[in-house]
Amino acid sequence: MRRVLFVLTAIGLLGGCDRDGDSEKGAAEMSVDEAAARAEVIRAATATVAGERIGAANEEPGNWLAHGRTYDEQRHSPLADINDANVAELGLAWYWDTGDTRGLEATPIVVDGVLFTTGTWSRVYANDGRTGELIWKYDPEVPREWGKYACCDVVNRGVAVWKGRVFVGTLDGRLVALDAGTGEVIWETLTIDQERPYTITGAPRVINDLVVIGNGGGEYGVRGYVTAYDTETGDERWRFWTVPGDPSKPFENPAMELAAKTWSGGNWWEIGGGGTAWDSMAFDPELNLLYVGVGNGTPWNRDLRSPGGGDNLFLASIVALNPDTGMLVWHYQTTPGETWDYTATQHMILADIVIDGTLRKVIMQAPKNGFFYVLDRTDGRFISAEPYVPINWATHVDPDTGRPVEIPEARHPNDTALVFPSAHGGHNWHPMAYNPATGYVYIPAIEMALLYAREQDFEYLPGAFNSGIDLTPLLPPKTVEERAAMFQSMKGHLAAWDPVRQEEAWRVQHPGTWNGGVLTTAGNLVFQGRSDGHFAAYAADTGELKWETPVYTGIIAAPVTYAIDGEQYVAVIAGWGGSFTLFTGAPRHRGNLLSEGRLLAFKVGGESNLPEPQVTYVNIPEPPEMAMSEEELAEGQMLYHTWCSSCHGSDVHSGSSVPDLKYLPAASHSRWNLIVREGVYSTVGMPGFKEILSEADARLVHGYVVNRTKAAIEECQSDYPKQYPEVFGTACTKRVVATP
Ligand code: CA
Repeated sequence: MRRVLFVLTAIGLLGGCDRDGDSEKGAAEMSVDEAAARAEVIRAATATVAGERIGAANEEPGNWLAHGRTYDEQRHSPLADINDANVAELGLAWYWDTGDTRGLEATPIVVDGVLFTTGTWSRVYANDGRTGELIWKYDPEVPREWGKYACCDVVNRGVAVWKGRVFVGTLDGRLVALDAGTGEVIWETLTIDQERPYTITGAPRVINDLVVIGNGGGEYGVRGYVTAYDTETGDERWRFWTVPGDPSKPFENPAMELAAKTWSGGNWWEIGGGGTAWDSMAFDPELNLLYVGVGNGTPWNRDLRSPGGGDNLFLASIVALNPDTGMLVWHYQTTPGETWDYTATQHMILADIVIDGTLRKVIMQAPKNGFFYVLDRTDGRFISAEPYVPINWATHVDPDTGRPVEIPEARHPNDTALVFPSAHGGHNWHPMAYNPATGYVYIPAIEMALLYAREQDFEYLPGAFNSGIDLTPLLPPKTVEERAAMFQSMKGHLAAWDPVRQEEAWRVQHPGTWNGGVLTTAGNLVFQGRSDGHFAAYAADTGELKWETPVYTGIIAAPVTYAIDGEQYVAVIAGWGGSFTLFTGAPRHRGNLLSEGRLLAFKVGGESNLPEPQVTYVNIPEPPEMAMSEEELAEGQMLYHTWCSSCHGSDVHSGSSVPDLKYLPAASHSRWNLIVREGVYSTVGMPGFKEILSEADARLVHGYVVNRTKAAIEECQSDYPKQYPEVFGTACTKRVVATP
């Protein structure tokens, strides 16, 4: 605690940001000497953040030193000054506008009162935990064109801090080491082949002076891997490929030889095979095992990827690696022969729990496929699995083999199948939390189905979303009632899951589907942000709502907690976006108004206030006339949903801060080709599609957008918005929000 006091005193003096609100003197206004002195203080505070301190994190509960707080990724804090008895007095301590306008997913790292976090486009921020004041900012200047390879928004889930350095993976595949004191680059290395559509959105983890990072791109055509780099020099130490490569070349290691036997027919290596490790990791220092969650195959349907069948290792698996060598120790595949985008990249939690009278070292995961798994983390042995959301692709997991017993129709060999869960999963990347006092795992759960249909004449399109799913039956329902039914069938809840009994202890049903990650504390609390623009605390033992406050934007990230001078704070980065938001074109819920992101910190008796957004409503402008035949419209619809909808939303309904094309001004309609083909807005994230869409194609897409705009204007003149205000809140009028 002495260290905390020293640092904060120093920062307070140097930055002039005392508790009385004199926090105007930001980094830019400091003298060179003052800034250098502050940098030295932060450098000194972070210099000893390494394995020993992270391993003994409970001795300094005021800090949050690693992504999941501890290597076991439990996201449980021993801090209890904020608890179920006083949480109702929680108030805003401070807020800081990040300047981001898309999804925010990061978990901050907190070292002696300084928060290190990330925004969109892989930007890194260091803020004063007492005042929110920005200490430094780093922008890796990711080329905005790279955004077209980001299936799930241009997000980043956070940094790692180790021995005075801050590590971040950038969307365009770089790993960067920054000086924790200043944010200046120490080294930078390219972790990918930039000829392939790889992206990095996950947080690096550091183990024994090696920084480990994976990547994404499984929908676009890559071969997945994780790589370890020397924290000091940036030199590569090892790489673990998650799927086998070109069979005409030698295997990289025995694991690849084992994996190759489970792939059959097809030329999966030409597309890449998938298996990207884009998010979850956990580490057991005693066993010296690094656990990595592996993603889906490319394309999704196994018949198109490996037509001879097989499990297709290590797709949808948890792999346990020796972190010194990157060699495989054990693996467990959650979805053999993965076909539904059922990644096992979801958050993994390590805990020691008593099962049938025996203390077991377990690893727990709620992957997309809907089963909650408890495995022995020493050797990967199956212990138990039960569905935590409705599922219909398998009946159960066979306890003898540890394999799911499938319902054959779910593989839709010749037809379509409505399958639970959807490709968004029963649970996605949003972190869970485990509370040792209640014994519950808290899951931000999703209830949703997807209509899967195999693309019969699948052809790999470089740079496109190559799921191998036939879009035709997926194209948005046309009638108001169908759309209402679709959105109303999607649900989200917070579940308290008992991993020993493998059953739900309680649940809180939420108004929306895509809610935030979770924090639990020794104060018998669970904190979670929601898609309806609220941040809330629930009793960890019963689920009773204890406190909530409006924050005017949907929250998807997970909160953290820390203490300064013995005073506890709860912080969360708030900013609406992510894959669900972009893809479904799901409307914002009432209260989720802002596109601008914020870092928020709360404490008991906090007296700061968020400015209430001023909302005005804009009607859909009349689009230009475009004569299109039915055939042309159908072609335009298909092109739109192949190349445009993953950002601008299904059926031309944007769910996020990416422009809703129904509201295009006349000037943009007249510059359509310049924008869509030539890329005149590429610096703000709209790439040019000249290489992909011909002028005739671009016209077809334009015609479809105009057609949907006209349809929306017509719908808006009917009385349907009144019938479905929660569902179609933003379909007719765009909310233009200004913060005073
Ligand atoms: Ca995927």
